[in-house]
Amino acid sequence: MDCGNPGEKDSPEALVAVAERLCARRGQRFTPVRREVFTILAHARSPMTAYQILDRVLTSGRESGPPTVYRALDFLQQQHLVHRVESRNAFLACVNPEAHHDCQLLICTDCGTTAEVQSRTAMARLSAAAKAVGFSVSGAVVELTGLCARCRTALLGFASRRRPDRAG
Ligand SMILES: [Zn+2]
Ligand SMILES: [Zn+2]
Repeated sequence: MDCGNPGEKDSPEALVAVAERLCARRGQRFTPVRREVFTILAHARSPMTAYQILDRVLTSGRESGPPTVYRALDFLQQQHLVHRVESRNAFLACVNPEAHHDCQLLICTDCGTTAEVQSRTAMARLSAAAKAVGFSVSGAVVELTGLCARCRTALLGFASRRRPDRAG
């Protein structure tokens, strides 16, 4: 499960501070439960389902139920603090919530680590292709699956160790 370095991600504490600042600036309340759900996601290396989040909330001793967690997740999504990973029905803390952005998710099929990239060109081309057939885009979910750098390196190392030496 654990694939180590989440890459560009700020420290979880820094991310929580950013979220709090954004909510304050927008006049939104970063309530204790919203903060807790966001903090759990900020620490996670791979996307978590609502029930995994709920488990974590309950472990911390807080009384809660699915509706509370879902409401907190709705709020966090509306504020662009959290992304929903559609293919896994799971959630991920946004690494760059200050920029209002469309992002593309890179999901490692081996360890589950999920990273975000942003290609405005890709989105512009997709929108243009849609527009060409008279379609007006209101939302987009782009999820790419494959192997993260770490799993890929591990796999290549494993393969090269197993390959018999045919040189000479
Ligand atoms: Zn994001
Ligand atoms: Zn991986």
